[in-house]
Amino acid sequence: MDTPTAAQALLEYYVKKILAAPVYQLAVRTPLQFAPALSEALGNQILLKREDLQPTFSFKIRGACNKLAQLSDGQKARGVITASAGNHAQGVALAARELGIEATIVMPTSTPALKVIGVRSRGADAVLHGDSFPFALEYALNLARQTGRTFVSPFDDPDVIAGQGTVAMEILRQHQGPLDAIFVPVGGGGLIAGIAAYVKYLRPDIRIIGVESEHSACLQAALQAGERVVLPSVGTFADGVAVAQIGAHGFQICREYVDQVLTVSDDELCAAIRNIYDDTRSITEPSGALAVAGIKQYVAQQGVRGQTLVAIDSGANINFDSLRHVAERAALSGARGEDAIYS
Ligand SMILES: *Cc1c(COP(=O)(O)O)cnc(C)c1O
Repeated sequence: MDTPTAAQALLEYYVKKILAAPVYQLAVRTPLQFAPALSEALGNQILLKREDLQPTFSFKIRGACNKLAQLSDGQKARGVITASAGNHAQGVALAARELGIEATIVMPTSTPALKVIGVRSRGADAVLHGDSFPFALEYALNLARQTGRTFVSPFDDPDVIAGQGTVAMEILRQHQGPLDAIFVPVGGGGLIAGIAAYVKYLRPDIRIIGVESEHSACLQAALQAGERVVLPSVGTFADGVAVAQIGAHGFQICREYVDQVLTVSDDELCAAIRNIYDDTRSITEPSGALAVAGIKQYVAQQGVRGQTLVAIDSGANINFDSLRHVAERAALSGARGEDAIYS
């Protein structure tokens, strides 16, 4: 047998971690669901991986659960700390409660009360600090150093990446026939790194396509520059992926194994939220609709037909009050004939 290359060894390292990740004490195996209207309109079989149905309404519970489970007894006793205004915070809070670990979540002072309550109701200590995320992060890292608590990154950690990679393990088991591409939303790159590592090890023929918001396209910027860059500013409509720099661990995988990266606009996200609603009667958050928006753009650009394309429907944490804005934008792009499906 040939000696494996460093790249193959890295994939194997992640596949082993993914297969052993104890995420199912909290995460559920979500359905891989056929989307009839999208499939009909796009002329391809579209399947939705329903991560919006997780207990915290996003896949982040997988990475948090795996990371916390891997801590030593001493680390567990000292507790964990993280910085997040969103889905990672809920995941860490829930996983920490389940495993009997004390958790502190630092959130920017601008965090909506709903999310602060969401964290506190899961038994975690929510600390409000800093005007925006980078300040909350800095504070959390300092606090971790001072208190000996373990910092839990939302994406830049091999255990978190492996937890998110269990999504791919389920997809390949749930759909054993031909599969052409998996579309994955990208924020800090933890989810796509876990998925790419697992899929490229076992089924390298399946294309892995990242989808970013045009206001936080940090993976595309890094791939173009050949190194991780910090975006000067980041838009927050898709708040789940509003990250200025791709994670170092994730980039190591993405630069080798992501086949293509697409960027979509906020209006394309609003239209995709509507498409998902029409097929599932479920509402997704803007980040949760990135992959479907990416599939629509891909099919329009490449003109592919008869393929099987999977979209990760990654989350549903949207304020009810934002739905009016989403519905208005979706109706406007429909009326302008920009949305191929409804024109
Ligand atoms: C965190 C998140 C993402 C992006 O995941 P990364 O691992 O940061 O790339 C996508 N969608 C939702 C709903 C999220 O919460």
